[in-house]
Amino acid sequence: MTSTLENQPAPSAGPGRAVREVGIAIIGSGFAGLGMAITLKRRGETDFVLLERAGDVGGTWRDNTYPGAACDVQSNLYSFSFAQNPDWGRSYSEQPEIQAYLQRTADRFDVRRHCVFGADVSSARWDDDARRWLVSTAAGDFRARVLVSAAGALADPTYPDIPGLDTFAGTVMHSARWDAAHDLSGEKVAVIGTGASAIQVVPAIQPVVGTIAVYQRTPAWVVPRTDHPVKPWMRRLYRFVPGFQNLVRAALYLFREFLVIGMAKNRRFLKPVGKLAQAHLHRQVRDPKLRRALTPDYTIGCKRILISNDYFPAVAAPNAELVTAGIAEVRPHSIVTTDGVERPTDTIVLATGFHVTDLPIAEKICGRDGRSLAEVWEDGMVSNRSATVAGFPNMFLLVGPNVGVGHTSMVYMIESQVAYVDDALQTMDAEGLAVLETTREAQEAYRELIAEKSKGTVWLGGGCASWYLDKHGHNSTLWPDFTFRFRKLTKKLDRENYVGTPAVPAQRPEVAA
Ligand code: NAP
Repeated sequence: MTSTLENQPAPSAGPGRAVREVGIAIIGSGFAGLGMAITLKRRGETDFVLLERAGDVGGTWRDNTYPGAACDVQSNLYSFSFAQNPDWGRSYSEQPEIQAYLQRTADRFDVRRHCVFGADVSSARWDDDARRWLVSTAAGDFRARVLVSAAGALADPTYPDIPGLDTFAGTVMHSARWDAAHDLSGEKVAVIGTGASAIQVVPAIQPVVGTIAVYQRTPAWVVPRTDHPVKPWMRRLYRFVPGFQNLVRAALYLFREFLVIGMAKNRRFLKPVGKLAQAHLHRQVRDPKLRRALTPDYTIGCKRILISNDYFPAVAAPNAELVTAGIAEVRPHSIVTTDGVERPTDTIVLATGFHVTDLPIAEKICGRDGRSLAEVWEDGMVSNRSATVAGFPNMFLLVGPNVGVGHTSMVYMIESQVAYVDDALQTMDAEGLAVLETTREAQEAYRELIAEKSKGTVWLGGGCASWYLDKHGHNSTLWPDFTFRFRKLTKKLDRENYVGTPAVPAQRPEVAA
């Protein structure tokens, strides 16, 4: 970054701790952090660090190593537009291939030299006098002109508050913190949850475990997965025919965008998808009682639509049991449900999701008045264009409020956001601004826009409880419209919604005698 700010004294970061000066501090090195870093690098900006709490890049794709982990968006679409990969092995890639892609992409754009690994952020505070962010991490302190939080929404696992869970004598592991060294062969395994992670892990482990009990609170709508290996001749076309992979990508994008019509505009258009899911269940599960238990009572799309060809067969397998009674308590060697049944258990897999509406990073970022984002968001996450928050100058959020999508590639949304943030950074440089901050009015207008767009959508009126909604029932996570509209909205910085403070105070005009 071309720093236009006069040298300010460094605020104290604690006794004996050196503070490293940087232009831009990016928290996280998943798709969002890497996308931001690469965009900066491609335009010649090198004054930035990527603060990564783990020892490698990759974010959620580094962390979610549970058996069966894969993406349910086709890789041709779920990848950077500027770093397409002609060599995907499958249409829907599995976790190791996506993680390898992210590692390769980081190397290709020489981003690793900017990474500080083991840099778990404990706090990021805005110092209004210095006009700098002071970021404290486990790997040292940083003083940055700009803070970009790309910590992600699927970063911190949720551990359910089940009585007795802490007394369990066997192994407990969250799907996002998988212990590959633990051998499940022949064990009595309990899987809690039936979301996107559970429906992948259950079929992957069911053949090797002794028994598997799937504890379902809410059934999911599941449609067939049209996954297949990518033929060598197709890979050659991707590699050698200019524009071909872009064409496939565009077709996938458009096809998926049709789902928004049903989810956000007119629910009648979801009917065929519901019928497809019902037929899938009928085809795969013969037992009417099990079928009934697996049939959701809410509109398809209200929760994320899941895709799988092997989840229902795994639940219907002789060594599997679908448990629909609530969990009353966990004992050292068993789980007891509210109907009084006690099931002996060796290992509990918590496929219980992530802190999405209560992002832990929000507790660590404190703005101008010393309050944290979490405190400011007590009544729900608010922002301008999902990227900036009044009272938090020079701070940008990637994968923050109302950017989530359930129907298409998150990478598309991330690239839209990165373009917006990059335009803001370039505007700061071009105008010689030390500080750029959005207005409360802009934030309020954006909140109203989201509320208006959310009205009548399946997420609010589909009859389900989901993490798309916060504790007040507001949609604070999803972008409730076509994604191309988000891209249009964030194409350029809405400069009129920001107050900029010049780096050097303007010369005082001569006072006439
Ligand atoms: P999730 O969608 O939040 O699902 C959590 C599951 O745990 C739900 O079935 C939930 O039940 C259940 N649960 C939570 N607390 C519980 C409790 N105390 N007792 C019983 N059940 C409980 O989490 P996830 O499956 O990890 O997926 C999260 C997100 O990650 C997805 O929506 C998706 O964005 C992403 N993801 C994507 C993929 C993919 O691309 N294939 C794979 C995995 C994850 P209720 O439904 O009743 O709340």
